[in-house]
Amino acid sequence: MELRESGIEGIGDVPWGTHISFVYHTKDEYLENFASYIGKGLLNNELCVWIYGEDTNPDELKEHLKNNVEDIDEYINRNQLLFIDNREWYIENNDFNELRVNKQWLELVKFSIDNGYDGLRAVADTSWLDKSYWRSFSAYEKNINTLISELPFIVVCLYNASKLGLYEFADVLNNHYYNIIVENKECKVIRNVELIVKNKQLSKSQENYRNLLRILPVAVFIHDEDKILYSNDTACRMLGLKTKKSITDSQLIDYIADEMKEDFRDYIKKILNDIEGTICFKSKLCSGDGRVLDIESISSGYIYNGFPKVLSVIRDITPLKKIAKLQEDIEKSNILLNETLEYDKIKTEFFSNLSHELRTPLNVMLSAVQLIKSLKNSNKKDKLLKEKSCLNMIHQNCYRLLRLVNNLIDITKIESGFFELKLSNCNIVRLVEDITFSVAAYIENSGITLQFDTDTEEKVIACDPDQIERVMLNLLSNAVKFTPRGGHIWVNLYDRGDNFIIKIKDSGIGIPHEKQNFIFNRFQQVNKSFNRQFEGSGIGLSLVKSLVEKHGGKITLNSELGRGSEFTIEIPCVALSESKIECLSRKDRSHSRIERAHVEFSDIYAFNFDNTLSST
Ligand code: ADP
Repeated sequence: MELRESGIEGIGDVPWGTHISFVYHTKDEYLENFASYIGKGLLNNELCVWIYGEDTNPDELKEHLKNNVEDIDEYINRNQLLFIDNREWYIENNDFNELRVNKQWLELVKFSIDNGYDGLRAVADTSWLDKSYWRSFSAYEKNINTLISELPFIVVCLYNASKLGLYEFADVLNNHYYNIIVENKECKVIRNVELIVKNKQLSKSQENYRNLLRILPVAVFIHDEDKILYSNDTACRMLGLKTKKSITDSQLIDYIADEMKEDFRDYIKKILNDIEGTICFKSKLCSGDGRVLDIESISSGYIYNGFPKVLSVIRDITPLKKIAKLQEDIEKSNILLNETLEYDKIKTEFFSNLSHELRTPLNVMLSAVQLIKSLKNSNKKDKLLKEKSCLNMIHQNCYRLLRLVNNLIDITKIESGFFELKLSNCNIVRLVEDITFSVAAYIENSGITLQFDTDTEEKVIACDPDQIERVMLNLLSNAVKFTPRGGHIWVNLYDRGDNFIIKIKDSGIGIPHEKQNFIFNRFQQVNKSFNRQFEGSGIGLSLVKSLVEKHGGKITLNSELGRGSEFTIEIPCVALSESKIECLSRKDRSHSRIERAHVEFSDIYAFNFDNTLSST
């Protein structure tokens, strides 16, 4: 608790916020006693104000003070010592107005702080007071204790003893911390123990409060638009300033990042003008020693030394942000690592599967060749039949190898960006219809009903017919592969103006929901345990997706386990401007289509040399 020398015998040092009465009989009594009170104030860098009564005047007071204080004129010249007429101070329009007087005191305290003084020391002569004002004045004297206890302010009120009755005197004793009475030229101090204890308790709790603020790990500022009036240790460190002095010379806004300055100024104004209660914001703070901190600030209104100011509590969240960033990075790395591990696993599975896919047709072909070789001794008819069957087997497995190698080459080409579509204007309806019908016999032979339907007969769009064929054959071969006998396959076409829709739907085994996201990924098959039941390399759908996307379209899947799957292809309807670029005629394409069907269906069928597909 900061104590000031009162310069009054019997009172000694007092804290700011002390309210004293001096009951005098003659002018000389107060003149004698207050020269030293004012003198201490001037020496201790306080603004001193003498509110004088009608029995004296500034010249007389000045002359009197001159005897006690050196260079009194200098204090007067630099406005550290002011003399004010008590009637002007207390009375306006023949009336005493408590609020007006309080406002004046606050302004004087502000003036003292603004001019670099520690606070205000005053003498206030109440000789203007007559009985008619007593009640309101006494209430004011009681109330002002609350005000001055908040301020750097000490005041001595002068009371003329001859004007005080017993009740008034009791009021004076009640309203002041210390009461000085002069008896036989001796000053006697009557302490108002209740008020002093209260004040001490208040000061103690204020001190605890200040200590707490000082060591808080968050920065606390009391400030306005121009100045920082109070800051704790953390605030000093946050701003990178060595001394409290350099802080009070700064403005908080100087440290706020440029892009937030305007907002911050706005917030302070709103708080000071009571438009907003509390404002929270995040910003960057550029400290005096070159650090840039992420901060979170909570600001609200605060009465400091009796004036409305802003209390800002600022937290450095840079470490939190760093931790959050680290956590995010770790999470990303984890995801990446898991993805890599998963991809690696899938790749390993793919290669072991691929080895199987390569070995199976080769083994079949080898067995067929060995069988042909061993037929030397058989009879001619038997030999011919067996040779034909072996050649069929070799032929089919050649296609199977070819499909695998083609798929591998194309997916590699697409991934490395070397795959180009050979676009031409084609009637997509006819194209898809022809492809579907080229495998219709095989599908029907597998005991599955095939249904084709279209809402339009002709739609010419730019596409690569070879690749559309691959897409269709791939999806159809999957539909056949995963649909048991007695099932259905539907191929439906819809012209939606901007887009052309192809739907390939089956009533087969379906695909579990959790697997549907991976289905188009490279190397993925839904159920590894099914692998060998349903041969395949797991690159078909990924190739299909890439080819559809190459056309600017997209493919989606709708499937339910045990109920079937529906693949929907959406291709944008754009046509090439050169009308000469036309699809090969149906006849030209039909031979190569049968060839392709053999290749794409090679996983699941055996065929005869007469080019009709037959189920294995
Ligand atoms: P594969 O060459 O092994 O058939 P795909 O990429 O064509 O590879 O298909 C991947 C997996 O998706 C298949 O192994 C199968 O599990 C599942 N699948 C594809 N189409 C269907 C379908 N119509 N019905 C059920 N499952 C399907």
